[in-house]
Amino acid sequence: MSNLGEQIKTMKKITTAIKKDFPIFKNNKGLVFLDSGASTQKPKVVIDAVKEVYEKHYANVHRGIYKLSEQSSELYEQTREKVAKFINASSEKQIIFTKNTTESINLLAFTWGMDNIKKGDIILVTEMEHHANLLPWRELAKRKKAIIKYVPVKKNGRLDLNKLDSLLSSKVKLLAIAHMSNVLGTINPVKKIIAKAHKKKIKVMVDGAQAVPHFPVDLQDLDADFYAFSPHKMLAPSGVGILYAKEEILESMNPFLVGGGMIANVTHQDAEWNEIPFKFEAGTPNIEGVIGFGAAIDYLSSVGMKNIFKHEQKITKIALRELSKVEGLKIMGPSDNKDRGAVFSFVLNGVHPHDMATMLDEQNIAIRAGHHCAQPLHQSLGIEATTRASFYLYNTEEDIYKLVRALKKVKKIFK
Ligand code: PLP
Repeated sequence: MSNLGEQIKTMKKITTAIKKDFPIFKNNKGLVFLDSGASTQKPKVVIDAVKEVYEKHYANVHRGIYKLSEQSSELYEQTREKVAKFINASSEKQIIFTKNTTESINLLAFTWGMDNIKKGDIILVTEMEHHANLLPWRELAKRKKAIIKYVPVKKNGRLDLNKLDSLLSSKVKLLAIAHMSNVLGTINPVKKIIAKAHKKKIKVMVDGAQAVPHFPVDLQDLDADFYAFSPHKMLAPSGVGILYAKEEILESMNPFLVGGGMIANVTHQDAEWNEIPFKFEAGTPNIEGVIGFGAAIDYLSSVGMKNIFKHEQKITKIALRELSKVEGLKIMGPSDNKDRGAVFSFVLNGVHPHDMATMLDEQNIAIRAGHHCAQPLHQSLGIEATTRASFYLYNTEEDIYKLVRALKKVKKIFK
């Protein structure tokens, strides 16, 4: 796998070589995996990294003063440095390990949110948010008597940016926005939006769960106040999440969970918190998961995030063209591949998404059916559920053709 980015010229060759790095495809012949939006498969280097931790280095982190504990702590902290570099954070102190994006956003809502949102304040969310970037803010608003307002999504699957502009008032304290929608595939122009919000002194929380795995993300360039994502959606083990926040905000925030590992000193009556980021990491973390994430970052970096995005752009172009040839199929997101990722949620006349999922599974195609944790968005679209095919670096052009052939077969059965 080493130096794939340099060694292999064409994207087709890259994808074919990449597929071989994932044991799941060897062990499930003919599998067309189109549910990476939920969680991705893992390359052998990541599986091996986790195995190696258990076999060679395992001990609790930041506690022991013996060699093994020092080794595992070092590997664990190396991942933090890799994450900071991967998203161009200005310091690894800005990287907090949680258990997923959901926990990262809850941490924020119940610390920064509880201390900074007051009665009558407005929290702006968009209609395309995953429940993870919606319900923590709604729950906070309920407790604080704050107001939630929605930025609408237009018929073409893009945010209504004029409406967003008009909603950015001085009463708004936070804007919570997805970098890329997990249903529509829409990539929002967050850099411009953040700049506008900052002019009104509004903090911005960006949900990057569908962004960081698919294209280069530069936090210093974006200037987001808060940013969250999930390593399990980018080849890493499950059970690890990332919360990024600006250093001065993290310094001012209270801890979320309290207990072991996050303190500097505890007396019978009092406690002093550890410095950031440790102040936000109470209890034993997912040591092997974090170290495995380090291996995933190395793998993605060796392929190159620009190459991955290029590949997915090509997939998007072909998928939009081929899916539009299936009679009665309607795609929910933007119909052009500009500022759009390789996630396609669709409905097919006369076929319930759950029946669709079962029938595609019979043809060895794994896709997702339902509301994809974005129920209000589906309500706005006037549908209950969709079928979602989401692609990643190991998916080939052939996977699109297999999906389209299978959809035509389903269509015939339901005629
Ligand atoms: N945000 C978006 C856009 C997502 O797609 C997802 C997962 O599908 C999440 C948040 C939640 O991620 P997790 O389940 O890892 O907390």
